[in-house]
Amino acid sequence: MMREDPVIAIDNLNHYYGKGALKKQILFNINLEIFAGEIVIMTGPSGSGKTTLLSLIGGLRSVQEGSLKFLGKELFRASQTKLVNMRRKIGYIFQAHNLLEFLTARQNVQMAVELNEFISPQRAIIKSEAMLKAVGLGDKVNHYPENLSGGQKQRIAIARALVNNPPLVLADEPTAALDKQSGRAVVELMQRLARDQGTSILLVTHDNRILDIADRIVEMEDGLLTRDSQNQAMSYDSSTNIIGNP
Ligand code: ADP
Ligand code: MG
Repeated sequence: MMREDPVIAIDNLNHYYGKGALKKQILFNINLEIFAGEIVIMTGPSGSGKTTLLSLIGGLRSVQEGSLKFLGKELFRASQTKLVNMRRKIGYIFQAHNLLEFLTARQNVQMAVELNEFISPQRAIIKSEAMLKAVGLGDKVNHYPENLSGGQKQRIAIARALVNNPPLVLADEPTAALDKQSGRAVVELMQRLARDQGTSILLVTHDNRILDIADRIVEMEDGLLTRDSQNQAMSYDSSTNIIGNP
């Protein structure tokens, strides 16, 4: 049987910050594919380029060099309209939950629904409350974030990211601000919801205790993808003189 097309296909991606004499290469010859329903964890030291790569994949930054395809569509030189449309198909979860403090849990989720599709307020409310129930916050829908714990806030952020059934969720250190137990609960929840919906997840973490939820682990070091557990023997690349880790 042929494997389906990847959700994300990255080919020889490079990225630079700064201009002129200050121009500095941050990502080097990145190659990565992520398939439907896969949970991929990315680890690596601080400053190795993980957030930069995630923001490129998420269409939050323009691709400068190389190819990056989301659901078969090329993002290199893509128009702003195309990027905006693509971002609608991605759920984002960041280290800080980024909830709006003056909106209730339900309103925070509902806003994501209403920005994504034309839908009656009644339907949007039903959808948002169902999603909050799915993350175990059915009794907290009318609470404001300030009255909830860190783990509960991060669960609202998960509900917000998944409420539109996106094919891809990008999570940048989602457990960094949580204690061990709520961190674990949060990623297990993401895993379960992703499995139910067939969503792919790319999750950046420093947290060794959650690596087991991954189908695959990839590692970044100094702007290079040095390990891919699916593709252990990374090939020698003569253009960069870099040998991948065995
Ligand atoms: P990580 O998420 O792995 O910690 P980042 O992608 O945030 O790594 O950063 C990679 C490198 O790029 C670091 O050296 C960082 O200082 C640099 N960097 C990140 N963002 C910017 C920016 N907006 N402008 C210039 N340099 C940046
Ligand atoms: Mg980072």
